[in-house]
Amino acid sequence: MRADCVRARADRLVRPRLVFSSNGSVIADFHRDRAFRATLSQADIIDADGMPLVMATRLLCRNPLRERVSTTDFIHDAARAAVADGLRFYFLGAAPGVAAEAGNRLRRQHPGLDIVGIRHGYFAPEQVAEICAEVTRRRTDVLWVGLGSPRQETFAVACQAQLAGVGWIRTCGGMFDHCAG
Ligand code: UDP
Repeated sequence: MRADCVRARADRLVRPRLVFSSNGSVIADFHRDRAFRATLSQADIIDADGMPLVMATRLLCRNPLRERVSTTDFIHDAARAAVADGLRFYFLGAAPGVAAEAGNRLRRQHPGLDIVGIRHGYFAPEQVAEICAEVTRRRTDVLWVGLGSPRQETFAVACQAQLAGVGWIRTCGGMFDHCAG
């Protein structure tokens, strides 16, 4: 991820990269729901968060996926890379207080981790512009969005243009709840 982050910084003025996560339910929604399909198709990267998906690609694809990417593990790899490279995280999502507790725990586990902003995920549509302005103002490198699917993917695509300057938007489902314990 580190080299990619540096590259993303170079072209961050264009638009944030979108990294989504998939599991069986996301794949089912992809096939069922045309609007969700269009949204998911905007992703730069889609991780497979589940061994069944990896196994399916082994059966069906010439170039199968090598491994699953669990967001709750990946956050620690990303945090280590962020500390090493001085990248800034912003957390958006979960019930009030949850992402803040997740942030406290992650800072203890990864000293030096720079989380420049934390907001809960129960906001009104009219607050979106202000949220995007804050994320951008704080010079966020990676915006973690945990609003559940499909809300988080829809948010990421809809806000991409308002988040110029941010390197990555990474959807993360219930990761804040998991990290908060
Ligand atoms: N959530 C949110 N805003 C909403 C609805 C949900 O921030 O309007 C949060 C919810 O509190 C939880 C996460 O989104 O932290 C969804 O977790 P879940 O495990 O259901 O997501 P999944 O990984 O299954 O997409």
